[in-house]
Amino acid sequence: MATATATASDLATASTSDLATATASSWFLVTPGHKCAKGYQKKTKWEERTCIRYKCGFLNTIQDVLGKRPGWIEVKDEGEWDLNWCDAAWLRQNFDHSYMEDHVRISHFRNHSELTRKNFMVKNLKRYQKTLEREEGREEAAKCDFFPRTFELPSEYPLFVEEFKRSTGSTWIMKPVARSQGKGIFLFRKLKDIMDWKKYGTRTEEQKNEVESYVVQRYIENPYLLAGKKFDLRVYVMVTSYIPLKAWLYRDGFARFSSTRFSLSSIDDPYVHLTNVAVQKTAPDYDPEKGNKWPMQQLRRYLTAKHGRETVETLFKEMDNILVRCLQSVQNVIINDKHCFELYGYDILLDDSLKLWLIEVNASPSLAASSQQDYDMKFGLLEDTLHIVDMEG
Ligand code: ADP
Repeated sequence: MATATATASDLATASTSDLATATASSWFLVTPGHKCAKGYQKKTKWEERTCIRYKCGFLNTIQDVLGKRPGWIEVKDEGEWDLNWCDAAWLRQNFDHSYMEDHVRISHFRNHSELTRKNFMVKNLKRYQKTLEREEGREEAAKCDFFPRTFELPSEYPLFVEEFKRSTGSTWIMKPVARSQGKGIFLFRKLKDIMDWKKYGTRTEEQKNEVESYVVQRYIENPYLLAGKKFDLRVYVMVTSYIPLKAWLYRDGFARFSSTRFSLSSIDDPYVHLTNVAVQKTAPDYDPEKGNKWPMQQLRRYLTAKHGRETVETLFKEMDNILVRCLQSVQNVIINDKHCFELYGYDILLDDSLKLWLIEVNASPSLAASSQQDYDMKFGLLEDTLHIVDMEG
């Protein structure tokens, strides 16, 4: 196994609670042992260039941030670029045929889906946990008990049925592995409901003859509620290298709330159970000014007032553990490439016993803004990301 640069005990010294007090930058290295990019002053041939040519596959905040950088110019179509903020489709089609000079940077690792596709993420976490158990014992492996019990369908259907029978009455959630924004998701309590799904599915015309892969996962039935509503946390982590692992945690993030009060008696209502903005903004009482979000610091203050400083610090340290262990689970699988960096959006749910659950890791977290406050936060996030990428040298 390649050297992982952060362990859970390292993280105890680099938790969000300590990080929140730092002021120099909003990105904090969560994997110790590296110099900050800001201190890196080496002069290169690159400095002699007069402009930075960028390509961008999105029309939202990232376009604004790139467009406002002095000396940066956008290239379209086949033009040569120095930085490419690309989408996953571009990466799949073009990465393997692109020649990249040393200074060139691109916003994904080639096989990022090992972490950002729901089924691959769970497969890698399960394998990592087994390795930990074998090499370091049960106690260490238990530190990865932060993802709900999950099976891939159709391949693990028999295993799932065994587990389902052991936990009668529980609620499960079905999620297509490669979709996002809550599309194709549903909750169920009876096996018959997925029989119907198998027969009629939620497939598109092209997929009619294939079985679309899903994960089926234990639904967290006891979410922490605020004003009776469920929320999850969006946390940003940037990785600039997998070997050695070099990961940065962003100071700001937010909690995304559902619109309707939580209840387990209405499992078909997405406004109750799914916290995706794409879902919630179609709710009749959605407020576009507020955007159903709380900044992370506001949530932190609320939790501190309610549960005390020490408890909340422990909670945020546990969050660091989740963030880094996920990266460690794919450290030997991701193709490490000095041209690549990645801005991940983690979705994490808090339950009413103050346990954190990893829901998923997004490769292209939404950069579209749902309110002015959201725009300002994302603008700052992206500017700070470009500082770390440091195209100017
Ligand atoms: P998508 O990629 O479509 O956004 P997610 O896995 O993020 O799919 O799930 C969408 C939403 O559904 C999450 O933001 C969360 O609110 C809810 N959700 C997903 N999995 C669970 C779970 N196991 N328990 C409780 N809520 C969940």
